[in-house]
Amino acid sequence: MIRKPFALLATLAVSFGLGLSANAADERPNIVFIFSDDHAPHAIGAYDGWLKSVNPTPEIDKLAADGMLFKNSFCTNSICGPSRAVIQTGKHSHKNGFMNNGNSFDWNQQTFPKLLRAKGYQTAIYGKSHLKGTPQGYGDDWAVLPGQGLYYNPDMIFPDGKKMVNGHCTDVVTELAIDWLKEKRNDDKPFMLMVQHKAPHRNWMPAPRHFSLYEDMTMPEPTTLFDKWEDNTPAARNQELEIDRHMDINFDLFLDLTADFNQEASQKRQDKSAWKNMGRMTPKQMKAWRDFYGPLDEAFHKANLSGDDLVRWKYQRYAKNYLRCVKGVDESVGTLRATLADLSLDKNTVVIYSSDQGFYIGDHGWYDKRWMYEESLKMPLIVSWPGVTEAGSKSEEMVQNLDYAETFLDMAGADIPDDMQGKSLVPLLKGEGGDKPFRDAIYYHYYEYPSVHMVPRHNGVRTARYKLINFYEFDDKELYDLEKDPDELTNVYGNADYAKVQEEMELKLIKVVEKYNDDSVGPEKPQAWQDGFMKVK
Ligand code: CA
Repeated sequence: MIRKPFALLATLAVSFGLGLSANAADERPNIVFIFSDDHAPHAIGAYDGWLKSVNPTPEIDKLAADGMLFKNSFCTNSICGPSRAVIQTGKHSHKNGFMNNGNSFDWNQQTFPKLLRAKGYQTAIYGKSHLKGTPQGYGDDWAVLPGQGLYYNPDMIFPDGKKMVNGHCTDVVTELAIDWLKEKRNDDKPFMLMVQHKAPHRNWMPAPRHFSLYEDMTMPEPTTLFDKWEDNTPAARNQELEIDRHMDINFDLFLDLTADFNQEASQKRQDKSAWKNMGRMTPKQMKAWRDFYGPLDEAFHKANLSGDDLVRWKYQRYAKNYLRCVKGVDESVGTLRATLADLSLDKNTVVIYSSDQGFYIGDHGWYDKRWMYEESLKMPLIVSWPGVTEAGSKSEEMVQNLDYAETFLDMAGADIPDDMQGKSLVPLLKGEGGDKPFRDAIYYHYYEYPSVHMVPRHNGVRTARYKLINFYEFDDKELYDLEKDPDELTNVYGNADYAKVQEEMELKLIKVVEKYNDDSVGPEKPQAWQDGFMKVK
């Protein structure tokens, strides 16, 4: 059984003012899917978050001005590899088999690039795949970073093997994609190009041209920087992703690396990527790095900070480096769009900007992601589809990365397989969503525990107003009224005023688990629970 695609070719042809010809398939839109790693919506100007005053993303903002911005766009599992696997397959983690970063993706399964190729699309991918194994569903030319990849002069895996490519990773990926657009693409076929940036993933190492960006300003702080999670269940107090206690001042913020690059000491650290990256730098890059960060480190040592002042210093350096990496991605969006215009491809190319999940930029005192709380649950999603999507439009509908595969297939006029679990966003992009909500609830499930950052397994359901989070291994639940409490500081689970809402949300959770056929909610309690780890505070 195959669901009928929403976008029939005739509809598309009318939208573009094109007559149907014998070769109508060739008029189907091209798709450029620009995807970054860990770029939170609130670090995008167009999303109106608390970092807007920094003007972090002028090019992505222009894309939003030309297309549709999805205000309520969510992931199904807030971590890198699993989010990408959901996008490839249009299926939740428990169905595609990639539940946490330790898993390997089964490339032999059905993916949207394979289905697009079967319909005559050219497909290519450049950048971070994070799915392990040789990518399937792409043509003769592609290049992916091994694992997390490096920021400076990274190795890339090409179909014929691994090679080092000079430059900052964001620029390397952009240049490979542009080279494909200009030199390697076949003019006779529509295409789907995935440009997948490593930035702004930990540990936030910017291109040298962005070192000094924002240095003369003080970043605004999130209102929840000093949150103590007093109203949460114990999970939020027992994690390991606090700027205060867990962020590594050397390896996340480069402090001693700049002054004393010590390979042996660095090997012992949890996150070795700063050391690995610095080992890759050319002498010129290293000098630029030390010239910039060296004096700042000296000033830090003299200041002898502690307590909240130290947290604030760490936050400033972190947020600035994060946004410097974002700046590189933003420039890439501008360069790619300018290239499409130069090649006269801009009128018939859908450009999408998204990132694999949200991120804590000091929100709740944290860095990283994983939780079902808003900052890491939300994903940016901006789509420009010239002639189809209204410029500067915004959608409030609840959409997920679960919907991307279906959307790309629908754009291409391809059938959407019945076993995909999301819904095409094409009706929303065409302004034909109707009066009924696109979806009344989203389902979330995070698995990677015990593991780095120690965020317990949880699933949950979110509606337009409420969110129920279920830390099922610990028999703990949290309920939030997002209208009254957008920062999720007051857990109303068990509050008599919310008894009815609680009942409805618990029922909804059962229903979405059934709907998506999630049989992966394990009954087994982890050792940490048995040891009383979660009951300490
Ligand atoms: Ca990520």
